[in-house]
Amino acid sequence: MQPVHVIGAGLAGSEAAWQIAEAGVPVILHEMRPVRPTAAHHTDSFAELVCSNSFRSDDAEQNAVGQLHWEMRRMGSLIMRAADDHQVPAGGALAVDRDGFASAVTAAIEAHPRIQVVREEIQDLPATDFDSIIICTGPLTSPALAAAIGKLTGENELAFFDAIAPIVHRDSIDMNVAWFQSRYDKVGPGGTGADYINCPLTRDQYEAFLDAIIAGDKTTFKEWEGTPYFDGCLPIEVMAERGRETLRHGPLKPFGLTDPNNPTVKPYAIIQLRQDNALGTLYNMVGFQTKLKHGEQTRIFRMIPGLQNAEFARLGGLHRNTFLNSPQVLDPLLRLKNRTHIRFAGQITGCEGYVESAAVGLIAGLMAATEARGEQARVPPATTAIGALLNHITGGHIETIDAGPPSFQPMNVNFGLFPPIEIAVKDANGKRLRGPEKAVARKRRLTERAKTDMDVWFDGL
Ligand code: FAD
Repeated sequence: MQPVHVIGAGLAGSEAAWQIAEAGVPVILHEMRPVRPTAAHHTDSFAELVCSNSFRSDDAEQNAVGQLHWEMRRMGSLIMRAADDHQVPAGGALAVDRDGFASAVTAAIEAHPRIQVVREEIQDLPATDFDSIIICTGPLTSPALAAAIGKLTGENELAFFDAIAPIVHRDSIDMNVAWFQSRYDKVGPGGTGADYINCPLTRDQYEAFLDAIIAGDKTTFKEWEGTPYFDGCLPIEVMAERGRETLRHGPLKPFGLTDPNNPTVKPYAIIQLRQDNALGTLYNMVGFQTKLKHGEQTRIFRMIPGLQNAEFARLGGLHRNTFLNSPQVLDPLLRLKNRTHIRFAGQITGCEGYVESAAVGLIAGLMAATEARGEQARVPPATTAIGALLNHITGGHIETIDAGPPSFQPMNVNFGLFPPIEIAVKDANGKRLRGPEKAVARKRRLTERAKTDMDVWFDGL
């Protein structure tokens, strides 16, 4: 049987290689460290955690990443096994002894009889369509390989920085204050003329908001990241510092919009939120890419009328991050649409974080092994955490009517990616559920459904 080539032995590549080998298919795993280092890794271990040692919440009933842990354990994840074996106390989170964890992953892979490890940098991709390849080279893919990938996908489909605006759960926006309307009621393709959620600011609110942004605590770029500001994608605080009117004439411009609660008074500025997923459960804050620290973002953005109780599915950021415009270039089985023997996994596909990257590696490994045996690979249901994440990566984002950079940006797993579910409005005693109780009930129902659907899908493989 022909081996599958896995490039990169990080979180995704280690898990992918393990799954393929466990399925009885040989693997050649190519890892460039220590021959060539990256700017963030410090060791030559596989699955090195480059920053925090946390896999986040392990609550599989009320947390989406906890549910993802559950699914990965269910599918025999090496990464989760090593994490469980090297856990350190961290309350409800799963945190690990990073050296013990990475050593365990490295030892398991090096000892596997069907995995051959080659320490080399892959700089180019083969011209033939013969070998099955999974590219898992992560946010710091080496420049030579990034150039080769760019040649295959088209350079515009590969980004080197993410410019992330915060994303808000739709049901946490106060629609007694905010309203739906497109600027000048413009109807774009697939639109209704009321596609955006608008939050109004008075002059005093605008001034206070501006002061908070300017004074807010920010993260700085690492030396090796450079400062990748390009017009059309400036961080909100950089615009705020350029002049007190800059934001009001940029992303916060109030023109072409009427507040139905106060139709005769023009708001001084308006913040717009645009639908971010096909399900309509998530909305992104238009033009709000930022380097404000996460705690500051929550505090400052809740100053916006309508967002006073906002729950954020993701906060904003700007980082060095190599990732594909996956909905455009990958098929649902994570393969390049124009070269289906090449598959991608991990953060380069547009997921975010250790756990998500390993999970996508796991699924890519299962898919590659299935195809190596001459069978048809299958996608997990979108109601599971991994299925919801894959849906975001390969097709979940929506086209917007605005010109500008592609709207696809990396994402952690979160409940907003799951198809919505109906919940009972009363508890077992007939008492009407209130907001927070409803939210808990909804999360429980989503994770119950995910577990049932994962069991059925995985047993059927
Ligand atoms: P990686 O784990 O980066 O693995 C990619 C592997 O490919 C590396 O081993 C690399 O050496 C190898 N490689 C690259 N190019 C080549 C090549 N041409 N040939 C052969 N091998 C190659 N996530 C969190 O959850 N929590 C955090 O606190 C966190 N902090 C981060 C801090 C920084 C500075 C960065 C850059 C990322 C951070 N992330 C964090 C994101 C996290 O690192 C990724 O989500 C995760 O590591 C991605 O897994 P991966 O397997 O896709 O890539």
